Amino acid sequence: MNIHEYQGKSILKSYGVGIQEGIVAETPDQAVDAAKLLQEQTGTGWWVVKAQIHAGGRGKGGGVKLAKSLDDVREISSKILGMTLVTPQTGPEGKLVRKVLIAQDVYYPGAEEPKEYYMSVLLNRQTGRNMFIYTTEGGMDIEEVAHSNPEKILREEIDPRVGLQGFQARKIAYNLGLKGESNKQMVKFVTSLYKAYDSIDASQFEINPVLKTSDGKVIAVDAKVNLDENGLFRHKDILEMRDVHEEDPTEVEAGEHNLNYVKLDGNIGCMVNGAGLAMATMDIIKLAGGDPANFLDVGGTADAARVEQAFRIILKDDNVKAILVNIFGGIVRCDRVAQGIVDAYRNIGEIKVPIIVRLQGTNAVEAKQIIDDSGLRVLSAIQLQEAADKVKEVLS
Ligand code: GDP
Ligand code: MN
Repeated sequence: MNIHEYQGKSILKSYGVGIQEGIVAETPDQAVDAAKLLQEQTGTGWWVVKAQIHAGGRGKGGGVKLAKSLDDVREISSKILGMTLVTPQTGPEGKLVRKVLIAQDVYYPGAEEPKEYYMSVLLNRQTGRNMFIYTTEGGMDIEEVAHSNPEKILREEIDPRVGLQGFQARKIAYNLGLKGESNKQMVKFVTSLYKAYDSIDASQFEINPVLKTSDGKVIAVDAKVNLDENGLFRHKDILEMRDVHEEDPTEVEAGEHNLNYVKLDGNIGCMVNGAGLAMATMDIIKLAGGDPANFLDVGGTADAARVEQAFRIILKDDNVKAILVNIFGGIVRCDRVAQGIVDAYRNIGEIKVPIIVRLQGTNAVEAKQIIDDSGLRVLSAIQLQEAADKVKEVLS
């Protein structure tokens, strides 16, 4: 699960990580009130208005703007709220902005130039250990740095038996070239960042930029926080941070029906039971020259109600030109699934796209008979290759 920058920052703050302070707003009036309150709390006279969407690269897309007066705050917020923000990470369709974060300006002039760093904590799946990735080249695209200056990207792996050690935090601060008070601040930043990451079962924290302010403070200016869904039951407060507006609506609906659905870009809808079979089905579609429109695992109980729900969800995607149903009848008998398909088809009314059904396993022959006798526009198959060939046929 992903959360917004303002939510990520509030979690970081609660673990003692220094942050760029801010207050979230949903209307221009709220934005101005937030700016005033922030001025009282932090003494700031300038603000940044930051679009809150689940995607990075907002600055590049015009979703992060400096405001030098309360009038600016109102004007910029009015523009950003309600806009469809397109960034390198949203895809060309962009994302509707429903909230802005009014943050204190932290790039104020002082004894030194403000300096941006990059830092993330994530699981290295190859070693099975959490690790820090960090570089002095902050603020910009990390992929760009990895391409042009790979030697500048540093790593620090954490031994799960002992956790992050003091010397490791000091090494990171040292490698970032920090001295004196800001070195101490970075050590504290790294230590509390790791504590936060570990405590909330995060799968990734990406702080870009981490800023050393002109007066030597070390703070998170941005916060991308991804959480491990399998750990969410332990964090009810974080679960409440879920913003379904940011998720694919069809995926949300599928989730409500306990269907495992992921939308893809192809034109062949897939309805399958079991994740492994779903993957194999997508492979065979590809081999037959087609492109899957989705991954959909109806699970072990492919009864009529679930089959109907799955059809409805697949059909919400206008790209779907044919549907391949591939069900293995082990515990669930194929003839019952076949009857479910026929019933679902009749309940939904006319389905405009051809359906190819492949049922294998217990009572597969009876199942094929039910489909063939139904008089509906449904083609049946027992062998998977046969099914894939039929898909190709109906599409050509
Ligand atoms: P992203 O573009 O989605 O990664 O959003 P960020 O939160 O990283 O902000 C983008 C950029 O806005 C940063 O890299 C900064 O250069 C700039 N920015 C963020 N906060 C401030 C601020 O307080 N003052 C000024 N002047 N610029 C800021
Ligand atoms: Mn950023």
